[in-house]
Amino acid sequence: MKKVVKFGGSSLASAGQFQKVGAIIRSDEARVYVVPSAPGKRHDGDIKVTDLLYECYELASKGQNFYEPFLAVKDRYNEIIQGLGLNLSLAEAFDAIEDKLLHEPEKDYTASRGEYLNGLIMSGYLGYEFIDAAEVIFFDEAGNFDQTKTDAVLGQKLSECERAVIPGFYGIGADGHVKTFSRGGSDITGSIVARACKAGVYENWTDVSGLLMADPHIVSSPAVMRNITYKELRELSYMGASVMHEDAIFPVKKAGIPINIRNTNSPEDPGTWIVANTARRSKYTITGIAGRKNFCSIVIAKDLMHSQPDFYTKVVQCFSENAIPLEHLPSGIDTMTVIVQEGKFIEHEQEVLSRIAKIVQPESLEVESGIALIAVVGRSMKSQTGTAAKIFRALAEARINVRMIDQGASELNIIVGVLNEDFERAIRSIYHIFVDKEE
Ligand code: ASP
Repeated sequence: MKKVVKFGGSSLASAGQFQKVGAIIRSDEARVYVVPSAPGKRHDGDIKVTDLLYECYELASKGQNFYEPFLAVKDRYNEIIQGLGLNLSLAEAFDAIEDKLLHEPEKDYTASRGEYLNGLIMSGYLGYEFIDAAEVIFFDEAGNFDQTKTDAVLGQKLSECERAVIPGFYGIGADGHVKTFSRGGSDITGSIVARACKAGVYENWTDVSGLLMADPHIVSSPAVMRNITYKELRELSYMGASVMHEDAIFPVKKAGIPINIRNTNSPEDPGTWIVANTARRSKYTITGIAGRKNFCSIVIAKDLMHSQPDFYTKVVQCFSENAIPLEHLPSGIDTMTVIVQEGKFIEHEQEVLSRIAKIVQPESLEVESGIALIAVVGRSMKSQTGTAAKIFRALAEARINVRMIDQGASELNIIVGVLNEDFERAIRSIYHIFVDKEE
């Protein structure tokens, strides 16, 4: 079974971190394809190499002197090379980047050099072949990742080399220019490589021992999730839980390859497994909690609205005409509630409200802002009774007023709406009732 291992910026920020990574790779023969990010922060206040490179580009594109950040970039790599005692010089590669900055600066090309240079070091350090992502990862004319072409070319290339380093974050556009994914995109490269070589697992090495059940800024030392399904992860990431680049899920998900999130600084920890399906129960009824603030609710009331078949359609149209995505539509017999993001609604508020008033002539139309939504997610919820009751007991005991409830038909999640000011307290009380009290 082949393993693809992706290491994030903090795992490769210094020679010391590279050594940890080297030990991890060498400890398992199956770790054959390595996807590095660019060097990240070594300490608070440090600057990521990718950010320094963006700064080089900004200055160069205005014809200004870019040597301060450029020298800082060179120093970062030279320090790593020296720290590892490698007999390797990146002088030629640095010259090529400088030349490009001076004569035809390109944003994506410049940013991509962070991963490119780190890939060269990694390949020298491990003795693995170097595969330039610009030769094997493709984007189409519209600028979207071209999976078919990439699968074919990268798959073929990997079948010819047993062990290789493929830098993350970039590929080549249809116009022949280097193109990057959005920020954090090395996660996507790892997933693409895993898919192309039909890996048994995609290991994503970072600086935490897995996904946490709740935001650690809100709940102190939340438990780590051991197993989570792609669907659960999607629900949690949509509601703000940040783990990996969202688009990193798709290539491996389609191929049925599990992702294992691991900690470079604590490699013995098992981390979190992200899988398509699992018979494993999570330790607790819920898998995780996530949420976001600043939603609005628009409550539309009209007697006998349910007997008008196109009532909903008309209301929905008033929002879609203004390109406002709908988050939730909890409804009663003669009331319909629309939940939308405040930021997207406020700008067009009066157009939407007057359209609704005109088209469906409601008896009342009320708007409330400052609502936070909390998603309580868990695949085990559907086979257990009393989960919703438990959530509401937790909130009632904390004297938090619930403004909205929505349970998805899949019973994978229950969403509750509370006031922004109750958000943190609500999350803590739900976490407490499911985790601390279930222990
Ligand atoms: N180095 C890039 C960034 O900082 C990509 C990555 O780290 O995944 O966004």
